[in-house]
Amino acid sequence: MVGIVVVSHSAKLAEGVVELARQMGGGEVAVVPAGGIDDPDDPIGTDAFRIKEAIEAAWSGDGVLVLMDLGSAIMNAETALEFLEQPADASRVLLCEAPLVEGAVAAVAIAALGASLSEVASEARAGLGPKVQHLGGGGPAPEEAARILEGGDSVRITVPNRLGLHLRPAGRLVETLGRLDATIQIANATTGAGPASARSLSQLSALGIRQGDVMEVTAEGPDAVAALGAVEDLAADNFGDRDDVVPAPTPHHPRAQAAEGTIGGVGASPGLAIGPARHLRRPRLEFSADSESDPQGEIERLDAARAAARRDIEGQRSAARRRAGEDEAGIFTAHLLILDDEDLLISAREQIDAGSSSEAAWSTAMESVAARLRALEDPYQAQRAEDIVAVGAMVLAHLLGVDPRPVMEAPGVLVADELTPGEAATLDRDMVAAIVTAAGAPTSHSAILARALGVPAVVATGPLEISDGTLLLVDGSAGTVVVEPTDEEVALAEVRIRDETEQLEAAREDARAPAATAEGVSIEVAANIGSVEDARAAMLSGADGVGLLRSEFLYMNRPDAPTEAEQEETYRAIITQLEGRPLVLRTIDVGGDKPLGFVEQPDEDNPFLGLRGLRLALARPDLILSQLRAALKVATDHPLRIMFPMVTTLGEWERARALVAEATESIGGLPPGLELGVMVEVPALALMADRFAPVVDFFSIGTNDLTQYTLAAERGNPHVTGLADAFHPAVLRLIDRTCRAAEENGRWVGVCGEMAGDPLAIPLLLGLGVTELSMTPVAIPAAKAVVRKVHRGEARAFAEGVLAMGTAGEVRTAAETFAASLED
Ligand code: PEP
Ligand code: MG
Repeated sequence: MVGIVVVSHSAKLAEGVVELARQMGGGEVAVVPAGGIDDPDDPIGTDAFRIKEAIEAAWSGDGVLVLMDLGSAIMNAETALEFLEQPADASRVLLCEAPLVEGAVAAVAIAALGASLSEVASEARAGLGPKVQHLGGGGPAPEEAARILEGGDSVRITVPNRLGLHLRPAGRLVETLGRLDATIQIANATTGAGPASARSLSQLSALGIRQGDVMEVTAEGPDAVAALGAVEDLAADNFGDRDDVVPAPTPHHPRAQAAEGTIGGVGASPGLAIGPARHLRRPRLEFSADSESDPQGEIERLDAARAAARRDIEGQRSAARRRAGEDEAGIFTAHLLILDDEDLLISAREQIDAGSSSEAAWSTAMESVAARLRALEDPYQAQRAEDIVAVGAMVLAHLLGVDPRPVMEAPGVLVADELTPGEAATLDRDMVAAIVTAAGAPTSHSAILARALGVPAVVATGPLEISDGTLLLVDGSAGTVVVEPTDEEVALAEVRIRDETEQLEAAREDARAPAATAEGVSIEVAANIGSVEDARAAMLSGADGVGLLRSEFLYMNRPDAPTEAEQEETYRAIITQLEGRPLVLRTIDVGGDKPLGFVEQPDEDNPFLGLRGLRLALARPDLILSQLRAALKVATDHPLRIMFPMVTTLGEWERARALVAEATESIGGLPPGLELGVMVEVPALALMADRFAPVVDFFSIGTNDLTQYTLAAERGNPHVTGLADAFHPAVLRLIDRTCRAAEENGRWVGVCGEMAGDPLAIPLLLGLGVTELSMTPVAIPAAKAVVRKVHRGEARAFAEGVLAMGTAGEVRTAAETFAASLED
């Protein structure tokens, strides 16, 4: 851990600063005062020898940051470096120009997190930021910003995405860069705002960086070059924003004209619904400003509440991922980062130390960040303040020991001031006929999730004074809400609802109609799901079936394994939604990065190369046998395909089949029509596909894992983001090899990794011989549209050419040209 030395002319001041900094959460950091001189009559001054001793006392091998007040303090600190007994140590001692008090507090907080010397220095330098932001007076000019990290590398990037650096892309930056060993600052070179630490989500999102603004990124430290490359990669990926699916924000949303008895708002999700008003009951968050315990006790309470909120947000993130896809889940990653935001924590701890309760400290800190965002010019970015408020409320609820989840007491039209993304992600579709909110916008996350769920929504109505139970007629297309509609209005609306349902059905028919290539080769476009709710969403999106049921969802976040009966019940609930369409059930795929609470696993240095997937299932046959029995029972009356993850050898496959045979004993034989297949995730299997093909019914290619194992580039590791590209010819050659072996043996090949839902990849996969694609439900209509444009013969010729290419970049360029030719 980096140590810190505080040099001041006054011994009392140095000790006071050290005391203050220690109380800000740096209990384990060595913070050593070096103040005053040894002269009882005139103790004000600095002493090089005293500074040298302090540096040695703070030394741990990770380096020492020295903060000084003025004048001779600086000169004596420089002299102290010359006195150090190990001159090499001097290279790890950094005399830092940061402000003494704010710098020490910020430095200690980040040093306690194990940050490197350059990161600690950067945080100390940014220590004045919160004060400047709060009191105004502007930050350093952009030219100065570039100088703050002297000697650092820098790049200037014009921000490409339409919504600019709002919370979610800022979250992606913090998440990616936070794992690198570099001090990184980002400034808005267009407006002069910043610089902000790339570790602080609240600072970054308050820079107000909009589309077209120039972002200046400066990095220093061992991973500086990688950091700049990672930012360029993120920008090239539009910071993960899909501008084509996020509606453009309009500063002034046109409100619907309201007739007598009608409330006018903005239509945020189309459709008509009738139902009684139901207000969302949120927990009361009243608290006292005075602390219950000492500052340390208050900090511990706050940490426990943050940990509980983290679990809630992780749950919301997986719900959003299932319902609306990876893009929409990104906001919850940003929410998780808010919980750990250094700026916020430092500010809350300062107040706790001054005698505030953790509730008061946390809520004031949150409010001041939210106020900074609300002040941004860009309406979309300003709206993100509500995300901060939502995360803040969740932590507060846990501090107060109340359930943070809002309650809707009976089915009907949900009425609220605004829905938080977390509330929207976990909405119960069976309870909510429509949504009406006083605030909000069509671009808010709750509106996006409402659209993904197909729930009509009207937002931005202004203050709503509607009592519970009042009948409402909501028109999500027109943006109107009729309060207490007449019998005649209800009757008319019911006719319209019937008509609209029929129209919607017709539109869905298009997506639902089987997709075939231009010359008529049928391609099954299926969904990846992880719950019963997803199965419903899959059907609404027009899925031809389920190509990947991630069955482990039944096992995660619980203290014991689900029973066979429980599993059968869940599978039956899923197939009820599928109405006879095929279901590919993947057997439990846990271990490594997905640990189970009730399965003891060894500590592994390389969990991705360890006891994962089928390997773990073979080690714990009890787990998989109960799952297989439940699945086989369902297979007696439904088209079921069972596939096994992470299969590597023929021996494993034989053992998996033996387990199926054992499970079959209880139902008296293999159900007719049952197919048994393997996921192609390990290159060894793809290379041996000719030996597997005669003994499997199908292959389903998990391109996520196949890519990481082929290119030896871990999924989600920011150091190798660019390398883990499924378009690499090495991955494509393995897919090709699998397809050829399958064709020779009359087997079918599907793809269920992320690549299957990428419109750019689809022609290539079809050209290689894939006949089933399985993806997140929201991607299905677009994927079917691409399939219908592809001529398989042309795609084959294109794929052959691609296999001879040398890099993923060349393949992507060729795929773009091919995709453009489909539009002609
Ligand atoms: C894959 O690896 O491509 C896959 C679909 O499985 P998962 O993403 O669940 O590991
Ligand atoms: Mg996988």
